[in-house]
Amino acid sequence: MGVHSRGKVPRGAAAGAGALAAGTAPTTAAAAVATTTEAAVGAPKGHIGPADPRYAFLAGRGYNERFIGSPDHIRLVGSTDDVVRALNDAVRAGKRVAVRSGGHCFEDFVDDPAVRMVIDMSAMTAVYYDPARRAFAVEAGATLGEAYRRLFLGWGVTVPAGWCPEVGVGGHVAAGGYGPLCRRHGLAVDHVFAVEVVVVDRGGNARSVVATREPADTNRDLWWAHTGGGGGSFGVVTRYWFRDLPEPPADVLSFTLQWSWEGLHEPAFTRLVHNHGRWFERHGDRYPDLYTEFLLFRRQQGTIMLIGQVSGADAERVLDEHVAALGDGVGGPTSRTQERRPWLAAALKGSEETFGWRMKVKSGSLRRPFPARQIAAASRLLTKDAPDIVSGAVSLNS
Ligand SMILES: Cc1cc2nc3c(=O)[nH]c(=O)nc-3n(C[C@H](O)[C@H](O)[C@H](O)COP(=O)(O)OP(=O)(O)OC[C@H]3O[C@@H](n4cnc5c(N)ncnc54)[C@H](O)[C@@H]3O)c2cc1C
Repeated sequence: MGVHSRGKVPRGAAAGAGALAAGTAPTTAAAAVATTTEAAVGAPKGHIGPADPRYAFLAGRGYNERFIGSPDHIRLVGSTDDVVRALNDAVRAGKRVAVRSGGHCFEDFVDDPAVRMVIDMSAMTAVYYDPARRAFAVEAGATLGEAYRRLFLGWGVTVPAGWCPEVGVGGHVAAGGYGPLCRRHGLAVDHVFAVEVVVVDRGGNARSVVATREPADTNRDLWWAHTGGGGGSFGVVTRYWFRDLPEPPADVLSFTLQWSWEGLHEPAFTRLVHNHGRWFERHGDRYPDLYTEFLLFRRQQGTIMLIGQVSGADAERVLDEHVAALGDGVGGPTSRTQERRPWLAAALKGSEETFGWRMKVKSGSLRRPFPARQIAAASRLLTKDAPDIVSGAVSLNS
């Protein structure tokens, strides 16, 4: 669903492509992008009500199909000034407002029936180098895939962030941003130097503020609030500035391993999950270039899977060691595929996300592996016969 969103907004997308083409001359690129983006979406065109042919698409582009919003208007914004205008309108009309970037919210924070106006950021996708701030600027409406592509092709760098290329920069970065390069390079927020946010003051007036991590910045608290506080909490983010961006590896070894549920009786399942947790507890710091998602699907889905990527000259050896440790006392996977790919190709493919889900997701961070009692509970629920449960999984991301 989200994958097509920018295709529906050709002007914004064209502005972004211009930034990439001009990537070797950062100063010019910054100026060009700002002008083109400002001009791209005029305010009147951006007021989208239910009668507008774009409404159904924009109102329904949230990833979790459990929630469908019904706002009076969607404001497709093309500039920071557009956001200020939209927020002022919402405040004056007393309308509850929400903001959408990539649409990958798990919950109904945007698609809540009480939300009467949605500010849609998907036309603000510029990525450029800002020499004044000595930082890379990424507008909130860009997807991770677009940010990866433009930063890498323009300057050979990347933001270490999520594995799903359709996730939006807007909601992702403020929440932390974790993905394949983060064990080595930290979270996306660790690289946020500044953030431009449209906030509403006590008098009910919207204005844009730039908050940086500079100790002397009087808005530093607002910057800090965007380094893990979550999207939608403190204002509308229009752009982030990143510093100290790393170079990604030239290539990565992507892999998919599967264990068939057939024959994976409870002791074997328990051992496999235990081996996985113990390996990361013992070796997590030793292998910063190994990223995995261990997808423990319900039995009716046939298999459980380990997907991920690893980089470096010894990538094959690291993967072999990891697979051997997982299979200790259980046996190897029933299938294994792996392939070396250029880093950008792997980043744009990501975890091959699928759309059309209605789901409930809960997540947390583990410092220690699951104890036997919790693995047994997972096993019970994943194997329970219940025809009304169509799907479900425990995903252990490392
Ligand atoms: C399929 C899928 C894969 C994912 N993969 C990863 C992953 O690999 N790593 C990871 O760390 N996370 C991952 N996530 C979680 C994802 O990072 C969060 O759900 C994130 O908040 C989504 O941001 P968004 O802009 O796409 O979503 P949206 O639905 O647009 O927004 C999510 C929240 O952020 C707010 N928000 C959005 N834009 C702005 C803005 N410009 N200013 C202020 N608030 C804003 C919204 O109001 C909402 O509350 C994944 C989620 C899904 C559904």
